[in-house]
Amino acid sequence: MKREFAVIGLGRFGGSICEELSQQGMQVMAIDSDEERVNKFSSIASHAVVADATDELVLKSLGIRNFDHVIVAIGDDIQASILATLILKDLGVNKITAKAQNDYHEKVLRKIGADNVVHPERDMGRRIAHNIISKNVLDYLELSDEHSIVEIAVNEKLGGKTIIGMNIRAKYGINIVAIKRGNEIIVSPQADELIKIGDVLIVIGADSDINRFEKKVL
Ligand code: ATP
Repeated sequence: MKREFAVIGLGRFGGSICEELSQQGMQVMAIDSDEERVNKFSSIASHAVVADATDELVLKSLGIRNFDHVIVAIGDDIQASILATLILKDLGVNKITAKAQNDYHEKVLRKIGADNVVHPERDMGRRIAHNIISKNVLDYLELSDEHSIVEIAVNEKLGGKTIIGMNIRAKYGINIVAIKRGNEIIVSPQADELIKIGDVLIVIGADSDINRFEKKVL
């Protein structure tokens, strides 16, 4: 059975979620209070409707509680974003992802029960900062305030050793969860796996430990 999504707010962020979900073959209802934006998505989403997401009756009439996952992508109008999330929660929506504009907004969204709060500008800024500090850090995914998953390109300092030889779990407290080698992905590599220059290590750990590792070897 196809999963059903609703995206509220069709700016750049909500719009690209809507496009990508549709491209992946998902059922998506695109909702915005701006008719022009809705028209743009009428040929992309399964349904596109003009609606004010802060109006409980309107959301009810759209059958919003039957969707598997609702994404609140209203950014600038923080009050509307909070109110829409609150109503969705009250109506018993199974899963809500909401976009936060700032830390205060994020706190409120979490408090009222958003299951997942994203902060795209901040998160992308952090990723880029890590990438600027070290060109070997290819990507960076924040798991919590203190833990991340990082993709690290293997350079001369790291290459040519086995995982056990690098001893990074004992030295830095971080774990290699996978190695990307060309098109191959080695999941949960063994301790005797030889790391080669050009490999990409996917490591998980506390930010402070990952930072120590980055400084030492990159
Ligand atoms: P982005 O940064 O993603 O490009 P944006 O700056 O274009 O976003 P935002 O103000 O973050 O726009 O809002 C995204 C969309 O949410 C807009 O298209 C806006 O019309 C819509 N929107 C705002 N309030 C509501 C509401 N109460 N109900 C439905 N849609 C709304």
